[in-house]
Amino acid sequence: MSKSLEEAIAERALAYVTAPPSDPDDVIRFASPTELVDAFAGTVALTFDAEAPNESADSILDAVDLVIRHSVHTSHPRFLNQNFAGPDPVSVVGDWLGAALNTTGATFEAAPVFTLMESAVLHKLGRIAGYVEEGSDPLPTLPPGLFCPGGSTATLYALQLARHRHQPDVATAGANGDRLTMFVSDAGHYAATKSAALLGIGSDAVIKVASDEHGAMLVPALETAVAASRAAGDVPFAVIGTSGTTVTSAFDPLDAIADVCERESLWFHVDGCYGGSALFSPTHRHLLDGVERSDSFVWNLHKMMGMTQQCTALLVRKPEQLAPCFAGKADYLFQPDKLYADYDSGDRTFQCARRVDVLKLWLAWKHHGDIGFANRIDHAVRMADHTRARIAASGGTFHPVAGVFTNVVFCWVPPHLQPIDASVTHLDQLAEDVRAELHALPPRIKSQMQAAGTAMVGFQPVQGMNTFRMLYMNSTVTEADVDAILDRIDAYGTAALAEMGA
Ligand SMILES: *Cc1c(COP(=O)(O)O)cnc(C)c1O
Repeated sequence: MSKSLEEAIAERALAYVTAPPSDPDDVIRFASPTELVDAFAGTVALTFDAEAPNESADSILDAVDLVIRHSVHTSHPRFLNQNFAGPDPVSVVGDWLGAALNTTGATFEAAPVFTLMESAVLHKLGRIAGYVEEGSDPLPTLPPGLFCPGGSTATLYALQLARHRHQPDVATAGANGDRLTMFVSDAGHYAATKSAALLGIGSDAVIKVASDEHGAMLVPALETAVAASRAAGDVPFAVIGTSGTTVTSAFDPLDAIADVCERESLWFHVDGCYGGSALFSPTHRHLLDGVERSDSFVWNLHKMMGMTQQCTALLVRKPEQLAPCFAGKADYLFQPDKLYADYDSGDRTFQCARRVDVLKLWLAWKHHGDIGFANRIDHAVRMADHTRARIAASGGTFHPVAGVFTNVVFCWVPPHLQPIDASVTHLDQLAEDVRAELHALPPRIKSQMQAAGTAMVGFQPVQGMNTFRMLYMNSTVTEADVDAILDRIDAYGTAALAEMGA
């Protein structure tokens, strides 16, 4: 072999990025765990023996081909399984460049360019979210936040900030015994309960507030819940408003929640992990009206914007709150007497080393511009609107359940149950036996779909029943893809019925 192993792997990776699989290629070549182990046994075993020999480059390349062959092709336009899809090619190779330059974003000393890029990008994100003033320094030494390894981690940091404001000596003295409570809609993300568990507040302290049929928080229910918590002797300290719930992409009414938080002196955190990117679109940014009144805001650029995982911005209204909350003051790293120490971001976070996730975003944003970013959002919503129109015109084959913006949640309805009465606005209005039958179908249809490998669409319980979710962010999805996926769900549904002997 004339090329080095790393050159040969990089060549394959680049070929994948520049010409990713698309129809008629499979989205997944599905294999069981045993089949995967067997496949690798023919090249380089998946497992390690007590002693691992060094494998030849040719065998490792065979294994690399197997890795690609059996991975889920998340850039395929018929992959609609998760809240990420269709990575931006510039972001992918930008990520590689960041890996090649392998450094830590903690200090200006180790990451001079990335430190400035992070400051510039956070300032721009902060401007879009209304966190920083127009005309303020576009390269602040204290930018309005920082990049974090994922939305769940950023949520944890935001809630620690909230708790720190409630009890300023919590970092040193530990919790003072207040029975803290926090509030999130019942359609909100589980990062809230996990963070509460990790912070020692306890997941029971997370009070789930009722939401409407699409999953948007009902603010009167929030007010009642806060009052009830105080009456019980607990100490409310934070509210999470969700902008783009994971399943139905519902947007909580942020302005109304901000009113409650101001009145009750509660930290207002916005979980914009999924839908925060609506801010890039002049057409859809109104969905986040009021976000500028929040105290903290988490925004995953690795979801709708197609940055590679992970690329998460935590925006903080008062960034001077970060250091008192997180600083470890390591004297070997954050020496105050070195050059440009005031640019160091490392003591404003829990992490020590930090990936330079900003690079790929900076490159992609400079490449596409604000207009390109807006187009990505608008295209996604157009695909969801097309899906809604197709469902409405399906003559009862599909029944719409919920979902706004980029997400469409629906049932596939077997012929003998079609059509479900249009007066059914919530699935709990259906008879129990109908519910049971509809609930049993999505897992069966999904396994048919995985075996065929032609598409990937997720299912999950909504309104107490398994339903399909189609959601959009990959800018290469076309209306023809949407139509083909719906047709396939119909075909796999028919096959699943036959299998069940119905
Ligand atoms: C994805 C998501 C999160 C968690 O983000 P990760 O980066 O996966 O940790 C939190 N909230 C919402 C609404 C999400 O969709």
